[in-house]
Amino acid sequence: MFREDDRIVVAISGGKDSAVLLHILHHIEYAFPDSTIIPVTIDEGIQGYRNKALESAESLTRSLGLSLQIFSFQNLFDYTLDEIVRLKPSKSVGACSYCGVLRRRALNIAAKELGADVLAIGHNLDDEAQTVLMNILRGDSSRIVRTNVSREDSIPGLVPRVKPITELSERDIVAYAYYLHLPYHNVPCPYAEAAYRNDVRDFLNEMEYRRPGTLLATIRSSEAITEAFKQSLQKWSFTTCERCKTPSPSRICKACEMLETIRR
Ligand code: SF4
Repeated sequence: MFREDDRIVVAISGGKDSAVLLHILHHIEYAFPDSTIIPVTIDEGIQGYRNKALESAESLTRSLGLSLQIFSFQNLFDYTLDEIVRLKPSKSVGACSYCGVLRRRALNIAAKELGADVLAIGHNLDDEAQTVLMNILRGDSSRIVRTNVSREDSIPGLVPRVKPITELSERDIVAYAYYLHLPYHNVPCPYAEAAYRNDVRDFLNEMEYRRPGTLLATIRSSEAITEAFKQSLQKWSFTTCERCKTPSPSRICKACEMLETIRR
């Protein structure tokens, strides 16, 4: 995932997963003086939630001697997520969809501005297995391939993403953070649309309890699916979004389409 002289931008949310990711990467990269770690937080503008998580992120980065870079929806897109939710641009699109698409865009902008070679994201084993199963249950198996692109196969114009802790279970991550007294924010987001994910989580946890290894096997399956469909991935034609000039499968990318609806 990494090279010895990488500029690694690490996405920090203030939660436990990214706290552990940053702690581990900092520990390892210390041995590679040519590499640089830059922690970045995207402030979506969720009053009472993100501002608290930011305090934890700042406390963690300070304790590691790193300087936290903050990019906000307000500065990048002119709206906070709270404002978008108040405006209700669409009945069928929820807060998490706006947040997910715009945060992905914001992270790519931040990583590019900071000259990153690679962008590290803190998804854990439980989250990743849930996402794989949710994509399958929704009939969106192509998303498994699109979100599993390796550094070598990443699309030019998008900073390559790596997910170094996808084989660490949530339980291990909590234990690591607890044992090392890492500061992290542990309050759920007020907009969390978690009903579906909760059902999938309960099912996978039950299976993991009865048949240990289920979570890891789910991840392995998604890797095998990605490998099998790699050829079709190369065939996907990417163009450049007419508005923001980032790579996009359509004339106008999803983020610009959403911003257009919000402005209207
Ligand atoms: Fe954004 Fe939804 Fe996560 Fe809240 S729960 S931070 S709205 S994606």
